[in-house]
Amino acid sequence: MAKTALVISAHSADFVWRCGGAIALHEEKGYEVTVVCLSYGERGESAKLWKNPGMTLEKVKAERRKEAENAARALDVTDIQFLDLGDYPLIVDQEAKFRLVDVIRKVQPEFMLSHSRWDPYNTDHMYATQVALDARMIAQAWGHNPGEKVLGAPQLYLFEPHQTEQMEWKPDVFLDISPVWEKKWAAIQCMEGQEHLWHYYKNVAENRGNHFMRNSGGQSGGRKATHAEGFQSVFPRTVDEL
Ligand SMILES: [Zn+2]
Repeated sequence: MAKTALVISAHSADFVWRCGGAIALHEEKGYEVTVVCLSYGERGESAKLWKNPGMTLEKVKAERRKEAENAARALDVTDIQFLDLGDYPLIVDQEAKFRLVDVIRKVQPEFMLSHSRWDPYNTDHMYATQVALDARMIAQAWGHNPGEKVLGAPQLYLFEPHQTEQMEWKPDVFLDISPVWEKKWAAIQCMEGQEHLWHYYKNVAENRGNHFMRNSGGQSGGRKATHAEGFQSVFPRTVDEL
């Protein structure tokens, strides 16, 4: 059976900027990656679309969904799901949380990806991470829907937020995404409503590529990476050797 991974994205574009490289890379390695978008980001992250005359919430949502599906295709995402829970603010009630638990149990991910734990600019982001932790915990509970396969202990990697230094986010993993950069760049360009972010995230990937090289040995044998993504892990690793 193929290995799997699960991305929990507050809005429909977040998975592209923040972990599009990780998605494309793991798909190339044979993983099946599922992306869950809790909302479309229709109210808070679609300013460009709202400037068009005659826009409605439904039109914006449809547009954002189309963009996200195109981006998912560019990244070879195995499955993308939209829970359509609304944004600004995102609200995940008990029923929606249990839907997410169902997805987690079905996917049985080797690892999960979500947002930083703190984001005062965009509370939907940090709320999504809290929801991801809640759902992970519930999915591990033997007493929740007894008889189903319970979840193991997948790592939760927090992907890089915007305005990194304000978010109490510190990477402890750099992933070399050089081999799949073109796929991520193609996916970024599917986000037509947020063209102002394209070059910003290209720049982030290049800077993290530099950090990958520095941390893999620098001038004395470091491996060159043109592009990378940074992640902060929530849980300790269990190892036999350091
Ligand atoms: Zn977002």
